[in-house]
Amino acid sequence: MYDSHMHSSLSFDSIMSMEEACEQAFENNLQGVCFTEHLDLDQANGEDNLPDYQESIRQVKELQKKWRGQLEICRGVEVGLQLHLAERNKIALAGSQADLIIGSIHDIDGFDLYRQEYSRGKTREETYRAYLQRLYELVKTNDYFHILGHLDVITRDASFEDRNITMAEFGDEIDAILKVIISQNRGIEINTSGWKYGLSQPHPSLEVVKRYKELGGDVITCGSDAHRVQTVGYKLAEAYAYLREAGFKYVSFFKQGKEEKKPL
Ligand SMILES: [Zn+2]
Ligand SMILES: [Zn+2]
Repeated sequence: MYDSHMHSSLSFDSIMSMEEACEQAFENNLQGVCFTEHLDLDQANGEDNLPDYQESIRQVKELQKKWRGQLEICRGVEVGLQLHLAERNKIALAGSQADLIIGSIHDIDGFDLYRQEYSRGKTREETYRAYLQRLYELVKTNDYFHILGHLDVITRDASFEDRNITMAEFGDEIDAILKVIISQNRGIEINTSGWKYGLSQPHPSLEVVKRYKELGGDVITCGSDAHRVQTVGYKLAEAYAYLREAGFKYVSFFKQGKEEKKPL
């Protein structure tokens, strides 16, 4: 199995070394990992967080040598999408030499998505519709990433009794996002961190993955979003089961910006 989303200590919010992540991945019988360090500009707290590309290139090169034939090791960036950052992100990504670029929402309209302030004064429906509408605009106007990260991550820390985003309620909004992704030959991921945060689904849910496949979606990665060694490869087997159930025969893994299809 391939874990295409994790953060080493080169990300501002992780303390896991690349070395220990690789050891854990090998112990978990993974075939490959991708370190997708955070690039989050103009965050709600006013911070810019950029990974040290040179250090990441140096460390990954060393580990690739060490683990040759045993573990495929790639480098990526998880870039925080915001409407006003399209150009700045592109500039900040130059020189990253990333194998994979994941585009993700972490901040929205000046709010940290994980702090619930965004939904204050809004109903569940208003919150989710506004979020999905914004995500649609971001996907349309930011063409530099390969994979849309944790599509429905807003459900993760939402305070609503029913946190899930369902196709029955939000199918039009989700379809619109998926259709743009598919038409541009980009992909989505199954991010297993939803399970870690007590949701009954990863990000996104099985029905969204099925819908993506139904609409012609073909590019899909799986990732644990590990920030600690304990969650490297977390529930990847379950994510792979979702892929099979949705009709996929392959999982995507990126090298030098090109998708490789790995049989399930
Ligand atoms: Zn993220
Ligand atoms: Zn992440």
